[in-house]
Amino acid sequence: MGLTGLDIFKLLPKTNCKKCGQPTCLAFAMMLAQKKIELDKCPDITEEAKEKLAGAAAPPIRLVDIGADEKKLSIGQETQLFRHDEKFHHPCGVAVTLSDDLDEGALKERIDTIKNLKFTRVGTDIAVDMIAVMNKSGKADAFAKAAKAAGETGLLLLLSSENAAAMKAAVAEVGAQRPLLHVATAGNVDDMAKVAKDAKCPLAVKAGSLEEIAELAEKVKAAGVENIVIDLSADLKTALQSLTKTRRAALKKTFRALGHPPVTFVQDPDPFQQVLEAATFVLKYSGIVVVDVTEPYQIIPILTARMNIYTDPQKPIQVECKLYAVGDVNENSPVMFTTNFSLTYFSVESDVEASRVPTYILAVDTEGTSVLTAYSGDKLNEKVVHKAMQNVKLEEVVKHRKLIIPGHVAVMSGKLEEETGWEILVGPKESAVIPTYLKQIWT
Ligand code: SF4
Repeated sequence: MGLTGLDIFKLLPKTNCKKCGQPTCLAFAMMLAQKKIELDKCPDITEEAKEKLAGAAAPPIRLVDIGADEKKLSIGQETQLFRHDEKFHHPCGVAVTLSDDLDEGALKERIDTIKNLKFTRVGTDIAVDMIAVMNKSGKADAFAKAAKAAGETGLLLLLSSENAAAMKAAVAEVGAQRPLLHVATAGNVDDMAKVAKDAKCPLAVKAGSLEEIAELAEKVKAAGVENIVIDLSADLKTALQSLTKTRRAALKKTFRALGHPPVTFVQDPDPFQQVLEAATFVLKYSGIVVVDVTEPYQIIPILTARMNIYTDPQKPIQVECKLYAVGDVNENSPVMFTTNFSLTYFSVESDVEASRVPTYILAVDTEGTSVLTAYSGDKLNEKVVHKAMQNVKLEEVVKHRKLIIPGHVAVMSGKLEEETGWEILVGPKESAVIPTYLKQIWT
């Protein structure tokens, strides 16, 4: 259990000097107990008190780095159960398995497939981060060989074996890349902890119950391994319960034995169920999610779930407010506007692209809100649109004076025509209809 505000208060200088930015030492103590302020904000605290309070100031879920140098995945150190309270900070890793019992050709093919699981969504690159090398063969040399081949991709590594000798052989090949070693169990904990400690690698622990996992994590810590990941893999229902219980225990009870980021291996053999389970684990607190599937239609929903849950709900994702040229535009190309809410903008952009009609799209500043939200909040009106047109000197870009507006705001066409002097054409309400509209109406 962590220290209470009063326990912390007893260790403070009690001068109420306000140097920490708080009105009193008691206020500082309360903030520290809630992990809302850092200990070093009080310059007058004694070394002895600092030592005692260091534990209280430590994050309830430890931050664990996997990988070396600039190629790193940091997981853990989350502070909330719910994203609407505060954004989640460290996006989970998505790993795809690579079995070491594949023949050379199949191994290379699988690695190439994993390497190419990269996509662009709403203007952002998303990709699989890790290869989970599985010691299915049970042989040390095959495991080391597969780890080496996976390591050459530059992707982060998770090495999975319960055999400490095989783990040592693989670490000899790729230890410098600081892979996550998986897994220490009650049967191999001493040997596995030694491999992890010697190689300075993070180590995952696995056991049958949360109590046993907590015990094992403490044992690994006592053996000198600080960076610990807890394996909560199970069927969907059990894993979801474990993920929720451990997050609650760490955040609400400051139960440090479970204050480590979790890894979950998706277990269902059904390819659709795998996607469902993986997305669930992404959304509910997993630090790393490991899947067997490699089809883009399976990976994209998982990466999309990650992208969504780790954005800040208080800050809509926006594109730059400017004039975008889609295709080989010229002075006669159509011009349409939409808002700078990235989901809206990229939907419009991809449908314009699909039309194959070169078109200018003006992204109007609506503080990242969608067309109807912006209009109803008066962030989108004739003056805002006119200003956006002037900012990009639209009159100098095209010869015609026609502006296509979203069908949802047809109501503003009269005022916009008066404000700008341009002819207003009401476009479709749904962006999916843009290709037909541009082909039939514009051309
Ligand atoms: Fe108290 Fe330290 Fe804050 Fe001063 S800086 S009010 S001594 S906690």
